Amino acid sequence: MSKAPISKTPKSNRQSSTDRPSPKVRRKSDTRTATAPRVGLVSLGCPKALVDSERIITKLRSEGYELSADYAGADVVIVNTCGFLDSAKAESLEAIGEAVAKNGKVIVTGCLGVEKGRILAAHPAVLAVTGPHQYEAVVAAVHDAVPPLHDPYVDLVPEAGLRLTPRHYAYLKISEGCNNRCSFCIIPSLRGDLASRPANQVIAEAERLVRAGVKELLVISQDTSAYGLDLKYATSPWKGRDIRAKFYDLCAELGALGVWVRLHYVYPYPHVDEVIPLMAEGKILPYLDIPFQHASPRVLRAMKRPASNDKVLKRIAAWRNACPDLALRSTFIVGFPGETEDDFQQLLDFVGEARIARAGCFKYEPVAGATANALEGAVPEAVKEERWHRFMAAQQEVSTAIMAARVGKQFEVLIDEVDDEGAIGRSPWDAPDIDGSVFLNGATGVQPGDLVPVTVLHADEYDLWAEPVAVS
Ligand code: SF4
Repeated sequence: MSKAPISKTPKSNRQSSTDRPSPKVRRKSDTRTATAPRVGLVSLGCPKALVDSERIITKLRSEGYELSADYAGADVVIVNTCGFLDSAKAESLEAIGEAVAKNGKVIVTGCLGVEKGRILAAHPAVLAVTGPHQYEAVVAAVHDAVPPLHDPYVDLVPEAGLRLTPRHYAYLKISEGCNNRCSFCIIPSLRGDLASRPANQVIAEAERLVRAGVKELLVISQDTSAYGLDLKYATSPWKGRDIRAKFYDLCAELGALGVWVRLHYVYPYPHVDEVIPLMAEGKILPYLDIPFQHASPRVLRAMKRPASNDKVLKRIAAWRNACPDLALRSTFIVGFPGETEDDFQQLLDFVGEARIARAGCFKYEPVAGATANALEGAVPEAVKEERWHRFMAAQQEVSTAIMAARVGKQFEVLIDEVDDEGAIGRSPWDAPDIDGSVFLNGATGVQPGDLVPVTVLHADEYDLWAEPVAVS
């Protein structure tokens, strides 16, 4: 019998992965079976593995995949293995061999998945191997082997999901939580430690977004440069190869998608150096959003943040050496407990020396639950206010100089809005909502999402005015 059954007991007792549908259900699904991809499942092992199998098929069914009760009808077969005893491992390897022989397209998951080398040595034709509880990685491997069929008449949500951003840009969340313990912040107590998404899942989502028309991906997390640390940079299968859950690898993969890729919430760790060449080569945008928060080593220590200002300035200089166009955006806090006039002056000096193009500045607020609230030296509100204004004026000077240097330059602008008077777009150095704009007065023939080459005519403190480059 050519079955791809579901089982946790000997093969003879395996159940079908799909209950035989009632005539009514079959008629309904028949409208899709001609084209819907079909997945077979062999589930071995304990009830926990069975639950994993249920989650995998639930997710796949929700994406429009049909389940196949036999090998012949399946476009791809998942074998959820058991690795508890040697006999169970042997049975798992045998089941994989059977699926390879009878179908050919096989994805292996489950407990034996941790012995990837052994599986591939026995069955080199296996497409992908993932470990236990890696539902998302399995689903991504299925997408890779047999892409889901998006049917707008049946599916309640578009392929790229429901988004609150305009069609041409999207936020791409790569992890949740944070391993840092900044004294003013309660995010780790609300969201827990860093939990990164597997690399293939992030890239699959990015590809879906690009297919749906997204022209700019904004990579976000609490600490983007720490991506994958919690996973020990584990690989996951993607299009016949393994990709690491690592900051550089992720940037390189996203940079190959042919759209703007903008990095937010990056920390100036040494390994960030590696992505600067990707910026210089035009693979990802020459833009880093680094929430420095302060520049005085004393205040940074009280904030429980890395406190080597000199090293940061040297690192920024090296980055600019490799990528002269690099723009830095940041956020800062003024009036942190214990901040003196000297500390504040160091912050102003840093903004000038580091040429921080865009900055958000916040007056310190004691968030309930933050350990910084116990620090001595509360700064009076009037002093916070006065420092905030001085900070904004100092940063405006930096921004004005950077904007003025762009007059006469040519680059591509991503159009955000168009009305009767013209278009508003953004340069590669400006993120939506938080940074500046490029105004194209009279350019009514463009569309949101268009990338338009422009020449800059005029600049003010934060924004630019430009005209489309004439096509000869
Ligand atoms: S401020 Fe950012 S890096 Fe620091 S603990 Fe909060 S989320 Fe983590």
